[in-house]
Amino acid sequence: MIEIINKLRQDFDSRLNSVADPKQLEQIRIDFLGKKGSLQGLMKDLRNASAEEKPKLGKDINLLKQHVEQEINNKTLGSKSVGKPEDTFDTTLPGRKELTGTLHPITQVMEEITSIFFGLGFQVEEGPEIETDYYNFEALNIPKDHPARDMQDTFYIEDETVLRTHTSPVQIHVMENREPPLRIIAPGKVYRCDSDVSHTPMSHQIEGLMVDEGVSFSHLKGIMNIFLQEVFGKDTKIRFRPSFFPFTCPSAEVDIQCVMCSGKGCRVCSQTGWLEILGAGMVDPAVFKSVGYDSEKWTGFAFGLGIERIAMLKFGINDIRLFFENDLRFLKQFPAL
Ligand SMILES: [Zn+2]
Repeated sequence: MIEIINKLRQDFDSRLNSVADPKQLEQIRIDFLGKKGSLQGLMKDLRNASAEEKPKLGKDINLLKQHVEQEINNKTLGSKSVGKPEDTFDTTLPGRKELTGTLHPITQVMEEITSIFFGLGFQVEEGPEIETDYYNFEALNIPKDHPARDMQDTFYIEDETVLRTHTSPVQIHVMENREPPLRIIAPGKVYRCDSDVSHTPMSHQIEGLMVDEGVSFSHLKGIMNIFLQEVFGKDTKIRFRPSFFPFTCPSAEVDIQCVMCSGKGCRVCSQTGWLEILGAGMVDPAVFKSVGYDSEKWTGFAFGLGIERIAMLKFGINDIRLFFENDLRFLKQFPAL
């Protein structure tokens, strides 16, 4: 029987050597490893062998089987891979670029504005996003019956606890802990119960405050001019309109000439030629009183602006919600400034 095994091995090797296509290889596999193949035949013959011969013969048959399987496998893999890399690897194709992330457009505008005020000597301050009623309203001279406290606008956590509706409470925290002179800006998130093309429940603001002896409205105008021309261009025209905020007096809305139509009048500026950009004014003596500043000695101005509004005008975006949908097709349009 050993001779039969050796003969089969020789047969297999010589047939494998002369294989020309996958079909022939498959036939060899069937002839040797198939249900009715030579190796199965050997296993059947093994039953008739004597007890002394069996272990040795069994071992030889197994070795032959392993040999056949391995050789067929090698041949299969070899025939599949032959010529492949050269066929598919085109060295003339351009390489694949690595994708680099960019800063979110809101972050970019926030950093730009922060650095402008930094250059004007303002320090950056931060405050909590969960505020007490006192810091968000009361200390800012917003009495209990003021419309800004309406449930429609404010997210109340508890009776006396709110998500801050503006960054103005940071002013109070800073003034309670420091003596003038002060020059600060406070960038951060604010929350209002509001959602449409120009409002989102969460948005970003920058608050500014300057307090010193002899600070007047013309300082405010000067700083706003520098800032807005830095953001929108040297030729940007600016105007102040009288307005009302509980924490400043006098108060003003600051407009810039429409960046879309250069003042001719278009849909974006509702044909007025002007765009409302921020609110500002001289700090109300009532606010100074709540932090213990002497309003006879100190005067100051404050301003607040929405980052999304600035970013929309700067980049020509018509729906504020695009900023927060995390659509890569949108975000990829704002490589670092
Ligand atoms: Zn316009």
